[in-house]
Amino acid sequence: MKTLLSAVAMLLVSTLTFAQEAQVVSPDGNLKVDVGVVNGKPLYSVSYKGKPMLENSPLGILTNEGDFSSGMKWAGVSKSEVDKTYSQQKIKKSQIHYQANVLTCALANAQKDMLYVVFQVSNNDVAFRYELPTWGDRRACVVEKEATGYQFPAHATTYLSEMMLPMGAFARTSPSYESGYTNGDAVGRASGGGDGFVFPGLFKIGDEGWVLLSETGVSSLYCASHLSDGTADGLYTVEFPSAKQNNGFGSTGAQLALPGVTPWRTITVGETLKPIVETTIPFDVVDPLYEPSQTYQYGKSTWSWIVWMDESMNWDDQVAYIDLASEMGFEYILIDALWDENIGYDRMKELVKYANSKNVDVFLWYNSNGGFNDAPQGPRSRMNTSIARKKEMKWLQEAGVKGLKVDFFGGDKQETMRLYEDILSDANDYGLMIVFHGCTLPRGWERMYPNYVGSEAVWASEMLIFSEYIRENEAFFATLHPFIRNAVGAMEFGGVLLNKHLNRGNREGQTRQTGDIFQLATAVLYQNPVQMFALTPNNLTDVPAFEIDFMKEVPTTWDETLYIDGTPGKYAVIGRRHADKWYVVGVNAEDKAMKLKLDLPMFANQKVRLYGDDNKLESFLKEVQVKKNGTVEVTIQPKGGVVIAN
Ligand code: CA
Repeated sequence: MKTLLSAVAMLLVSTLTFAQEAQVVSPDGNLKVDVGVVNGKPLYSVSYKGKPMLENSPLGILTNEGDFSSGMKWAGVSKSEVDKTYSQQKIKKSQIHYQANVLTCALANAQKDMLYVVFQVSNNDVAFRYELPTWGDRRACVVEKEATGYQFPAHATTYLSEMMLPMGAFARTSPSYESGYTNGDAVGRASGGGDGFVFPGLFKIGDEGWVLLSETGVSSLYCASHLSDGTADGLYTVEFPSAKQNNGFGSTGAQLALPGVTPWRTITVGETLKPIVETTIPFDVVDPLYEPSQTYQYGKSTWSWIVWMDESMNWDDQVAYIDLASEMGFEYILIDALWDENIGYDRMKELVKYANSKNVDVFLWYNSNGGFNDAPQGPRSRMNTSIARKKEMKWLQEAGVKGLKVDFFGGDKQETMRLYEDILSDANDYGLMIVFHGCTLPRGWERMYPNYVGSEAVWASEMLIFSEYIRENEAFFATLHPFIRNAVGAMEFGGVLLNKHLNRGNREGQTRQTGDIFQLATAVLYQNPVQMFALTPNNLTDVPAFEIDFMKEVPTTWDETLYIDGTPGKYAVIGRRHADKWYVVGVNAEDKAMKLKLDLPMFANQKVRLYGDDNKLESFLKEVQVKKNGTVEVTIQPKGGVVIAN
């Protein structure tokens, strides 16, 4: 490879001020990446239709074998193309065609050791990573730090979620990607804790466009990264996990065999939010890491814990929720924490049998611990070693359990990435699907791990139970997720709360502020292949039948996802298709009613169902004849929602 690349280097043409050694352009010609070396520092920049999205931004890594971020010399380029199609049932789209132009830049450091930077540029996405060859006899290294960064234009504004500080929150379980967001703040605002911001991060570049940063392809072979605090002039760099995560145990860098690669860093760019809502880049550049041991079935689930809480972790209440799942035609019940003590292993086998007799399969909760936090809920210490895990999973398979929700992870170190991967890999051997909670962002995992079916990594439905602040801001956060968190990965929110009061009595306290149709809309707005819905048995009789019918019908897997309209923090309207059925949903976080004229060609000339919350947030359903031009006018009330379905 070295010989080829140095031959290519001879063809290089040096250019003007930018030292623009190489350029790669998307297939449609709109998205451009320039790469060069200035004063020994490798740099890249990104533009869309000629407008700068990222200015000269640093590249490079620092390893224990040498510095690859300064003193670098250009050593050539090679170009190629990627054209691949794949199908994937667990993401926002089922059939994907990925086409990208590839630029490989060879760089030599002061010791003449090589580093390759590979850029893949599709129409609205840049994915890039470092490829490390062997260096002489050296076949192992540690990446200690990255110089990689994103230099935004000074007028860019941010929608960023803070990295939680280590060993805080409930039972020292943080960080778990459960934080608020900046809301159009200028670049440079520091995070409260100083530990930066998580992926994905959304940036608005004035009127020119939007940029979503994330990373994908993070397996046991690397740590998960995040964004540093921004500098006042808009530079954000890739930062490795804090040393204090995981109770201070485990290194913060990445241990690599050589040749080796880093994860892909992704930059999704659009004039509107459409390419961000619709991007499949987290999945385009990764491949399945193993074969599924069987066909996994996705679907809907009940779970008692979310509204009825710890007190419901008993036989009778679980039977009530199995019966609810059965009545709803849901595939699953999730039996949450404390089942090991309150129901016990022997009776759990009976409970699974009972569920199966009602045509319902079972997910069981596990604590991921181990020794890295204080979360007391059981079962504990069954997922943290291979020996305990396989023994447990053998029992689970014999008991007929179909999936696990594993909670309370220790952070983003490679140490923890290994635990995630080991759980997934072992679970596949025993036919178990895996949902993670109290966890990191999934980074391409829907495609990499066939039995992976979702992650929390968001202020999820539990926060609606716990916090008046979150209840007040439920609509606000809902208008962020399709453009940020859920744009790059499955989001197991555990939502659709139809109780007026988010507690067992449903008479007073913990008052839900959003409308019922807002809640139904989130069943579609929030994408995850297995959805644990927060319905309670009383909802069968205390909400309008059409709401229950909708929940019986709504799919959890999608063939297509479309951006329709929206602005983060204000409102969001998206469409998803399952086979020939479309669901267009909208939510409004503004404090006045929003009248929208939506372009919905998928409904042209059809009779559709329109679900809405009226100005008293009372739900209604009506039939609407859509005009030939597909235009539909809707009003979305403050904290209300709309659902249009054919
Ligand atoms: Ca949680």
